[in-house]
Amino acid sequence: MERLQKILAAAGVASRRKCEELIVSGKVTVNGSVVTELGAKADPAVDAIAVNGKKIASETKVYLIFNKPKGVITSLSDEKGRSIVADYLKDVKQRVYPVGRLDYDTEGLLLLTNDGDLAHKLTHPKHHVPKTYLATVERIPHGEALERLAKGIKLDDGMTAPADVEYHDVDPDQKQATITITIREGRNRQVRRMFEAIHHPVVRLKRVTFGGVHLGNLQRGKYRKLTKEELDTLR
Ligand code: URA
Repeated sequence: MERLQKILAAAGVASRRKCEELIVSGKVTVNGSVVTELGAKADPAVDAIAVNGKKIASETKVYLIFNKPKGVITSLSDEKGRSIVADYLKDVKQRVYPVGRLDYDTEGLLLLTNDGDLAHKLTHPKHHVPKTYLATVERIPHGEALERLAKGIKLDDGMTAPADVEYHDVDPDQKQATITITIREGRNRQVRRMFEAIHHPVVRLKRVTFGGVHLGNLQRGKYRKLTKEELDTLR
């Protein structure tokens, strides 16, 4: 729910100030009833809002998948002028927000939407949405170490929930291993901290799935709309 004058201004009716005047002078209806108080709220996705009898365009919901490069901040603005996700979304007309965040050094799947309800649901801990990462770590962890991660490991902010952990690729020459790990929580720097706890620091981290959505071969720095099927897996 948002204030009516904000909705009208965002829909391009007029400036916020002018929209307030329109409301006070009885020109605005919500679901057919005139609303004259300035504090009134409405939901642009469900309420029919009209000015002088003409319905305003409600904002279309958009759902995007973006392949975030390393070295980009999951943010729509940065005072220091650093590289941000919004730099890659200049063609997107709607104001979309990231669903959760990836660290500056993490790459891969980031969802963005202007659907606040779905974003809230997907990031709420109680929904346990699975997220899969490819973590390249220093040296090659023993099976028992991965087993500890899978069962739950103690971090500063408590035990982690059970995770799915398996070897993806082992490179004895490089003295590195890539591990596939699926977690159902979203604590700050969680995957990095989990591998630190078993003394195998992460050197590269890439998110490859979020719920039923897979990064696939989407190019780094590119985005696309989710398909209906992908969206259905998130709802
Ligand atoms: N876990 C991390 O450590 N970093 C991320 O960006 C996401 C999950």
